[in-house]
Amino acid sequence: MLVPSDRRPAQGNCLTGAIMVCYIVAGGSRLPLRRYLRAGRAGWIAGEHMAPPVRDMISGFRSMLGIISSRLVLAGPRSVALAISDVCNTKCIMCWCHSPLISPARKTTGASPGAAYMDPALFETILREARQMGTYRVVLGGHGDPTLHPQFDRMLELMDRLKIVPYVLTNGIGIDEPRLRVWATKRAHFRFSMHAGDVETWLRVHTIGTEGQFQQLCRTIRALVAAGTPHISTMHVIHKQNYRQVRRMVEHARELGVKDVLFRPVRATGLLADVVLDPEQETWLRYELAQCLKLAERYHIRTNLHEVLDHNLYIRSGVLDTRHLYRRIPCYIGWIYAEFDIEGAMTPCLDSRIVMGHAGRDRLRDMWTSPRYWTFRRHTRRMPIRGQCVPGCVCHACCMAKFNVNIYNLLRLRSFRYGEA
Ligand code: SF4
Ligand code: SF4
Repeated sequence: MLVPSDRRPAQGNCLTGAIMVCYIVAGGSRLPLRRYLRAGRAGWIAGEHMAPPVRDMISGFRSMLGIISSRLVLAGPRSVALAISDVCNTKCIMCWCHSPLISPARKTTGASPGAAYMDPALFETILREARQMGTYRVVLGGHGDPTLHPQFDRMLELMDRLKIVPYVLTNGIGIDEPRLRVWATKRAHFRFSMHAGDVETWLRVHTIGTEGQFQQLCRTIRALVAAGTPHISTMHVIHKQNYRQVRRMVEHARELGVKDVLFRPVRATGLLADVVLDPEQETWLRYELAQCLKLAERYHIRTNLHEVLDHNLYIRSGVLDTRHLYRRIPCYIGWIYAEFDIEGAMTPCLDSRIVMGHAGRDRLRDMWTSPRYWTFRRHTRRMPIRGQCVPGCVCHACCMAKFNVNIYNLLRLRSFRYGEA
């Protein structure tokens, strides 16, 4: 992936790129472009009868037009993330919420339903309103494992009916056979956060895990890959307990048939700082990751190792630093994405404390087009000019930098990785 240059972008370059992007995102000459532009003037496109990939292209196209104009919003959020569970059934050593290195009083298993899960009625309201605005992808997560939500499988069914693509971030522990059979039929993206490619490392990371759980997890992943319908990927946060086994993670992915593997350097400070690599270990890891990249390419496994090696995802010694990035590029998140916490509070990104309203009480469309959202968008666009973070957001440690870099590069025709935005 290309890293944005220090040069301020020329307007002409941006516009030429944008026209091409609109054409490409809309699917070239095969799609009736004029029809969508006309519909854009009339209002929103929910895409009731469109196949999800077509709806995705159209919402991408309309989001890009809004980004280019700076003053219009022609689509709803392309992706929304919902925190549906704060409960987890394990305690990863590097977890911000459940690690044994931090407060043992945090919720783990057995927290009372209702207190730690999103209300299913609220979930349905958000989903239906997002769907009306053309949203394509809904990320299910939280401070715990979303699949532990007592209504999780019903939620998947509802998303199926609404033709919304679920993106599920899960540890995969405790998925039994009946559930596996259901999941195998879903057009969903299941991302398994494994952090290991062998049982010994997995047990070091999952401090209350068992060997049986690891074996069951591997069977689950293998079966879902074999089913061919859901998209399966694995994710590994790299830290002191697993950095020496990164090569094994790639080999294990190959054994399971997984074709998409994501690596993330750990983000940890304070009580979690013990899991951060020292400079010598980081050097060693870089060498290993470069070897992993070659290995993954040989196995035809897609990874983000180029990005990790190019700029280490802006994480240095466990601390995220994106201050320099946003002196060069704007943030576009206000056109493509929104978050909802477990109570339905809508925020524009993961690192923002700006509450745009509350789902269930306020309409999603009203919040998305509200003056408060427009103030936020203005601030995000002007970050490189003002040289300041958006008030209420942690832009100097932004974990959504990748999306902004992808869009920035896309607008300049340097990369077409809009799919990840
Ligand atoms: S699975 Fe996720 S939420 Fe649960 S302990 Fe591990 S990192 Fe934390
Ligand atoms: S933290 Fe700032 S830069 Fe990052 S996505 Fe949020 S508003 Fe944009």
